[in-house]
Amino acid sequence: MSTPFTPPAPVYLPVAHTPTLFPVHRVYCIGGNYLAHAKEMGSKTNHQQPFFFMKPADALQPSGEVPYPSATHNLHHEVEMVVALKQGGHDIPCEQALDCIYAYAVGLDLTRRDLQAAAKQGGLPWDAAKGFDHSAPLSKLHRMEDIGHPDARTLSLTVNGEPRQQGRTDTMIHNVASIIHELSLLWLLQPGDVIFTGTPAGVGALQVGDQFHAELEDIAVLEGRILPSI
Ligand code: MN
Repeated sequence: MSTPFTPPAPVYLPVAHTPTLFPVHRVYCIGGNYLAHAKEMGSKTNHQQPFFFMKPADALQPSGEVPYPSATHNLHHEVEMVVALKQGGHDIPCEQALDCIYAYAVGLDLTRRDLQAAAKQGGLPWDAAKGFDHSAPLSKLHRMEDIGHPDARTLSLTVNGEPRQQGRTDTMIHNVASIIHELSLLWLLQPGDVIFTGTPAGVGALQVGDQFHAELEDIAVLEGRILPSI
């Protein structure tokens, strides 16, 4: 086989306490999954019907080092619990959904909030607001076989040591099993899929030089910072 150029490198995520690397297939995200955040965004829907968007796999940034993106003056943080799948399928029942999970992590769903606001206003897609390069800094993956399935945990973010976001994962509108079930009605989920499960209230802007510390209580930590634009 010949290719006209070198194929893009596959995306791998580090797995805590092992030399294993997790090969990424896709990155799915749920919107509006914590009521307090949906309200702060001015949402008027009840969010009983979940909605999803995607980021490219190579938007994942395990180093936590994020260059300030182009084309925005309002880069926002959204701290989220993240799950990584070892198995997929179509029409996965909620009762079997947790069996698909390989690991848990904490990450940021970085957002060009100004572009998202313009997209919402114009009824346009969110891709440029959500799926930009380096838009998904993520901690190491923590295997379910090591930690079990976490019940209610605190999800938190500090920026330069100041608290910005905090929430409890048991206050999600759609829990992890339900998210996997709903995604599997829309796509064939596959091993290697990564899912951002939504952000609690307190989203806000990040500036060049900011240091952030994201934590999923007793499970995962992500340390990162915003670098000058490339
Ligand atoms: Mn989000």
